[in-house]
Amino acid sequence: MKRKIFVFIGAPASGKGTRIMECKECESISTSSLLRKKGYDLSKGTLINDEDVCNLVIERIMESKSEKIILDGFPRTENQFWALRKKEIRIDKVFYIKAPKTILLERAKNRLTCIKCQASFTKTSFKKPKNYGICDLCGGKLVERPDDSKEIFMKRLDVFFMQTKPIIKLFEKYLVPIIEIDATLPPKEILKYI
Ligand SMILES: [Zn+2]
Repeated sequence: MKRKIFVFIGAPASGKGTRIMECKECESISTSSLLRKKGYDLSKGTLINDEDVCNLVIERIMESKSEKIILDGFPRTENQFWALRKKEIRIDKVFYIKAPKTILLERAKNRLTCIKCQASFTKTSFKKPKNYGICDLCGGKLVERPDDSKEIFMKRLDVFFMQTKPIIKLFEKYLVPIIEIDATLPPKEILKYI
């Protein structure tokens, strides 16, 4: 079996999660959901040991029997990048979902997030939930995330760009194809490349 592993990189509110959900034949391995399952509270912004993150994600990749895997939120640090290489885990493609800051800010302002499954919806007609305040996928409550407020969101964007640039450079250096996806295109467009 020839397994394919894709890395998805996208700023907060870029629509990364929505695109990952479109890729139904891929197994998605999300750093944040693995950490949540282990009992980490991510809402407090606590620093999590990078070594723990690497072990958790790599263990999950090794266990997986899927032919196609999406890594969501990994590698986020250079250390995580090297951890993949050390284990000889080959990445087939990197998808970089790109959007101008102004669009990201606008989206964050209109975003509603499910407290149970983290799916996101909008207050505007695009991706509005079927029932007011309730998640279409799991019935969980939809809330405005406190970290989507303008000031905190701007900081999250800065952190994202600061962390991402060196990782993209590393992938480039090791000749992993990087596919830039325009975040304003419909999410289904991603399927052309998977
Ligand atoms: Zn939900």
